[in-house]
Amino acid sequence: MSRSKSWTFPKWGEYTSERDPVSVRLCDYDGCDSPGDFPAPKSPDSKDKWYFCQPHVAEFNKKWNYFDGLSRDEALKRAQEEMRKSAGYRGSSSYMSGNAAATYGKEERRTDALEILDLDNDATTADIKASYRRMVKLYHPDTNMGDAESAIKFQQVKAAYEVLTGK
Ligand SMILES: [Zn+2]
Repeated sequence: MSRSKSWTFPKWGEYTSERDPVSVRLCDYDGCDSPGDFPAPKSPDSKDKWYFCQPHVAEFNKKWNYFDGLSRDEALKRAQEEMRKSAGYRGSSSYMSGNAAATYGKEERRTDALEILDLDNDATTADIKASYRRMVKLYHPDTNMGDAESAIKFQQVKAAYEVLTGK
């Protein structure tokens, strides 16, 4: 038997009335068979949604932030709004709060940001500014036309600098 994502869905017409034909939704993450209880918009204002399990929605939100230039706080806020809407059929909203909050902890944000700017934990404000200026020049969209990798890196560098300087 092949590992089809839809194996838990009853076949059309096999059941009569009352039964919800899509009672189990699986995580949209490639190759994941966990229940996908956490909706995430495909883009910030899109009505199209992905549905992920908790670990994958956390991973998605982390990347999503960089792709759309949102701050992590904004990305988390949006993700939590989506999760609250889905809490009705999940039954327990406490399930996600611990992990999701930890993912976006202040210390981790700082560590991530330093890593993006290629700095050590004891970096000074001058170090941060110097590294920021160097990387912004390196990855600026004007000098990397159509290069998606650079565009993402550029967003990361800007977000990292905001985290470290509070600007
Ligand atoms: Zn998953």
